[in-house]
Amino acid sequence: MNQKTTQPFTNSSTCPSCGRTQMGKFCADCGEKRIEAQDWSLWHFGKTFWAGITNFDSQFVRSFWFLLFFPGWLTQKYWQGERVQYLKPIQVFLACNVIFFFFFPMISVFYASVDEMITGYKDPSNYNYSFYDFEKNLVQKAQKLKIAPNQLAQKIQVLANTTSKIWMFVLLPLWAIGVYAIFWRKNPYYVAHLAFVLHCFAFYLLLYTVYFEAIFRLVREAYVSDYEIMAMYLLYLGYIIGAVRRVYGLNIWKSTVYGFLSLVIYVFIFLWYRQAVTILCLEWI
Ligand SMILES: [Zn+2]
Repeated sequence: MNQKTTQPFTNSSTCPSCGRTQMGKFCADCGEKRIEAQDWSLWHFGKTFWAGITNFDSQFVRSFWFLLFFPGWLTQKYWQGERVQYLKPIQVFLACNVIFFFFFPMISVFYASVDEMITGYKDPSNYNYSFYDFEKNLVQKAQKLKIAPNQLAQKIQVLANTTSKIWMFVLLPLWAIGVYAIFWRKNPYYVAHLAFVLHCFAFYLLLYTVYFEAIFRLVREAYVSDYEIMAMYLLYLGYIIGAVRRVYGLNIWKSTVYGFLSLVIYVFIFLWYRQAVTILCLEWI
């Protein structure tokens, strides 16, 4: 047992977190606050609790407002170091993920369904083509595991659904490499472009959620036409162009060209990613 009692607060001038001496009200190195007697009052505790909630709340509302209606704003503020008022890029991204998968828990957006993999292989005109004979490998694997192929297909779909969410941490850094390759002259730091990509993608998830929810609830139940998907991507393209314009400071023509290029890179990585997820799930199951 630890024989030393833990002091509730110290008045020593050494920072308890980083050890810096001559600490003032706050530590100049790590920002730790010096604990004083009044910090232990219930009143103070309630006050910080309330500030924690309302501060998160206003950060949240402000971030989403600017994310939705001002393309590139959050990235720009992040670059300029104006950060305390907004959620961090990764927080925005995670929050949008939660919203998206709340509405579409099993949707095969970020992985290709087994059907798509099979028909894509047979019909190369399908945009979801693949060089991988999924059906053949599925049947072989099912024999090996001694289960029916359609049973295995179901298992793969469930696995791919989870996997595709986790590997988002691969998809976006890849896209960020593409964006970095275009704009490295504007900012030499990869992470700066990663922030841009996270914000754009977060918007995409929200756009997708609102757009598809609206179609499914107002127009028809399940089916979305290719034109409707195209229209959504046009909206997204407009958003990216706006974001490129604000963040990278280009004129409207250059923004359009480079915004379009950024989206093309994304679509390629995205199509590759969703097929790779399903193939690897079959290989690794
Ligand atoms: Zn410190």
